[in-house]
Amino acid sequence: MHHRLFTPGPTEVRPEILKELSTPQIHHRAPEFSSLYAEIQAKLQALLYTENPVLLFTSSSTGAMESAVTNLVEKRCLNLVNGAFSERWHEITSGNGVPCDAFELPWDVAIKPEMVDEQLRTGKYDAVTLVFNETSTGMMNPLPEIADVVRQHPDVFLLVDAVSGMAGAKIETDKLGIDFVLAGVQKAFALPAGLAVAAVSERAFARAEAVPPRSYYFNLNHMYKSHKKNQTPSTPAIPHMYALKAQLDDMFEEGIENRFARHDKMATIVQAWAKKHFDIYPEEGYWSKTLTCVKNTREVDVSGMIAALIEKYGVRISNGYGAIKGKTFRIAHMGDTQIDEIEGLLRVIEIELGL
Ligand SMILES: *Cc1c(COP(=O)(O)O)cnc(C)c1O
Repeated sequence: MHHRLFTPGPTEVRPEILKELSTPQIHHRAPEFSSLYAEIQAKLQALLYTENPVLLFTSSSTGAMESAVTNLVEKRCLNLVNGAFSERWHEITSGNGVPCDAFELPWDVAIKPEMVDEQLRTGKYDAVTLVFNETSTGMMNPLPEIADVVRQHPDVFLLVDAVSGMAGAKIETDKLGIDFVLAGVQKAFALPAGLAVAAVSERAFARAEAVPPRSYYFNLNHMYKSHKKNQTPSTPAIPHMYALKAQLDDMFEEGIENRFARHDKMATIVQAWAKKHFDIYPEEGYWSKTLTCVKNTREVDVSGMIAALIEKYGVRISNGYGAIKGKTFRIAHMGDTQIDEIEGLLRVIEIELGL
């Protein structure tokens, strides 16, 4: 039996989108491929409020995170860390031999613009990494406010992991001046894993030319050169591209503003439920629009609850991540999930826990 996913990645994929994966194979140097690429391109740009090229990576999000830091740091990178994925971006940066420092906060505390300003004022950095929506903690860091601060430091590039936020929350890439914003498609895009996308600024490509190449597969200038021909340098995950195109068509059919509003509404419902029966893990005012990290104040056996939900109701939610496993659990309200489905999920959790 299929277990309906309410996990913050991968998320539930609609059967009609899964069918797109079986579209007969085309050749990636054929004109029909370039048409497919161009159609996806225009829609991704609209979704991200940008005129920047949006590159396609045949990899999960981690590949695009690696691409950002291997191509776009000339001097030194500041990694803002307040959760598992921002910590991982620091590991990716240092692991590739890129000079960097981590600015670390407790996992339940949001990154504030003043903190970023203070770090950038040292003049040590020419790039900063930020995880917009920390999937490990259900924290939405204040991206617009942080972007305002970063823009006051003209040599510093803003690199954003928006993996579990993009396509669920609005990201005004050009207005905020984001140089690199990435996401894998298995979160709020509600597609199977295997592709990542990233909008990349013109000045980022210029810097990538100047930085000694640290990566071949994720070389931004190779990708940009192909991009101009509506192609990719190597053979991409073409079936996923059909699914992405269909999903983007559906998103614009719903209306992207409506899609964001639906996510806001689901977030409000789950947050109210979590406050009523438990508590919410991250600092108030920074709760995610796409998932809620519930603080296990009733000390329920989280693993047992998750197993029971799967067995009795065929629904899967997520345990807490890493150090906060068992102390928290996570409910995703992203992608194509509808309000009645979220309400139904909350109801079965209540029944299971006798709330
Ligand atoms: C899921 C996730 C990642 C890692 O994604 P992969 O697609 O598994 O590489 C990175 N950052 C955030 C915020 C995520 O939610």
